[in-house]
Amino acid sequence: MIVVMKKNASTQEIEHMVERVEQLGLKAHVLYGVERTVVAAIGAEHDGLKESLEAGPGVAQVLPILAPYKIASREVKNETTIVRAGSFEVGGSRVGVIAGPCSVESEAQIVSSARIVKAAGATALRGGAYKPRTSPYSFQGLKEEGLKLLAVARAETGLAIVTEVLATEDVPVVARYADVLQIGARNMQNYRLLEAVGELKLPVLLKRGPSATMEELLLAAEYILDAGNPNVILCERGIRTFETHTRFTLPLASVVYLHAKTHLPVVVDPSHGTGHTYLVPQMAAASVAAGADGLILEVHPDPENALSDGYQTLNPEQFATTMELCRKVAVALGRTM
Ligand code: PEP
Ligand code: MN
Repeated sequence: MIVVMKKNASTQEIEHMVERVEQLGLKAHVLYGVERTVVAAIGAEHDGLKESLEAGPGVAQVLPILAPYKIASREVKNETTIVRAGSFEVGGSRVGVIAGPCSVESEAQIVSSARIVKAAGATALRGGAYKPRTSPYSFQGLKEEGLKLLAVARAETGLAIVTEVLATEDVPVVARYADVLQIGARNMQNYRLLEAVGELKLPVLLKRGPSATMEELLLAAEYILDAGNPNVILCERGIRTFETHTRFTLPLASVVYLHAKTHLPVVVDPSHGTGHTYLVPQMAAASVAAGADGLILEVHPDPENALSDGYQTLNPEQFATTMELCRKVAVALGRTM
């Protein structure tokens, strides 16, 4: 159920409603909107619940939430949620850009990547320290040493750090360094990991599993929200299809679909979504045209010698021209970048 509070409802009335929902054996989540505040009452519903919530002071109306995901649904909040992490913001009028190498390789590599992407207008630095690799023989990341190098790059440039947490037991160490925790595509349905990052307040970038439906993605986000972390960013990064000309198939209709169904901001990853450098600039621009709140792009000072994903990575010049192209699209749509 959603308890929609009156426009002028007081803090005491909202707090009272939270207590009332909890007394009735449900979990209360308060969502503060510009227009209205709602208290989402999540749990098993029983006869007379709607009527007893309606009787509360400051209540405008009580409505059922029809979607299977509740707190993530646009039914509970009409405007897009803005998620902030230092220099990085998504969900507002500015398109946020997370850019950097697939993996952190050395101090020189990550610091120069940070300087390059910042100069071209990126608002956050990406770089994997814990890498989910298809082969156990491929480079697995520098682990905590990589996190320390990301912190050096942040100190040098002021860019917020987006980095992947691969396992539940690594959440404390990654959270000590990261500004945004990335949940990789392969972990989208690792429910213990989703609950663990849900216990923090650090923003989470949740990547779509390569074979996950939109509903599965939104229910995965719901795990994080239900555990108490409201700062969830969704990421379309391409899905598995019969097609082989690209590494994955990048379905941009999902941006529009997600905006219709959820208030959570949506970021697109055209690097993994296409798997080929030459396809990235236009697909990044197309993502902005589809209304993406942000982009995540792989950029390396020397892609040819990258330790992972070099074939889909932009070099500094390519990144700069991609930013210019995307900025034109953003401005045409009344946004900034
Ligand atoms: C990555 O961002 O480098 C990555 C491994 O992404 P995904 O989880 O989408 O494959
Ligand atoms: Mn990668």
